[in-house]
Amino acid sequence: MEGGLALKALGLLVVALTMGLEAEDEGYEAEREAMVRYQIEARGIKDRRVLKAMRRVPRHLFVPPEYRDAAYEDRPLPIGEGQTISQPYIVALMTESLGLTGRERVLEIGTGSGYQAAVLAELAREVYTVEIVPSLAARARELLERLGYENVHVRSGDGFFGWPEAAPFDAVILTCAAPRVPERPLEQLKDGGRMVLPLGEDPFFQSLVLITKKGEGFEQRPITGVVFVPMTGEIERRRGP
Ligand code: SAH
Repeated sequence: MEGGLALKALGLLVVALTMGLEAEDEGYEAEREAMVRYQIEARGIKDRRVLKAMRRVPRHLFVPPEYRDAAYEDRPLPIGEGQTISQPYIVALMTESLGLTGRERVLEIGTGSGYQAAVLAELAREVYTVEIVPSLAARARELLERLGYENVHVRSGDGFFGWPEAAPFDAVILTCAAPRVPERPLEQLKDGGRMVLPLGEDPFFQSLVLITKKGEGFEQRPITGVVFVPMTGEIERRRGP
């Protein structure tokens, strides 16, 4: 009987938490709709599933409270530790480039706030996301769990090494700028798999590129110019001649 009571209590807790989350969404739905229409659809994002995901994920919960009212503006925002949550359009553009159908295993490098991971979780089967700053990883894990994203796995570590135990992946997304394509994550792609990343050494300008694995080779095409925070860790130590 004790088990039954505990279960009831748990049920009530879940209801209370869900109501809490719904209350937190109040007032932001219209802003989110406007974001999707005027920043994302208007700029040519067409994938219906991507648009639906962008309409669902409560972006304001992924930014610090003092930026909540700016969450749906057309720009990146600070998330602490010198890091940023990407501009909504860039999140949509990178996500669309991966061509997700719902069956994929995806690796993200640079969890940050967890926002991009949540968008991916709406569109793929499993999302593995790695964050080098432990406090950011912990915060993102907690929020994603609270929002019910059971298909997201957050690890604190250096994405330079990818996530070998969870490989191979159908798609890889880097949300920090890499001076060169990191080899391990690339190796962890399936044949036909796609990887999108901001590529370049310039801290104020990188090229967003899409790489497709074709047998032993790779095809690479530029998408647009972007500005991302740099990838840190092992890739910096290995820089040089
Ligand atoms: N996708 C995030 C935005 C991330 S900003 C979001 O939706 O909010 C880029 C993130 O990459 C930062 O949090 C930074 O700490 C992280 N990062 C930088 N180098 C990394 C590395 N080598 N491995 C994993 N994460 C890294």
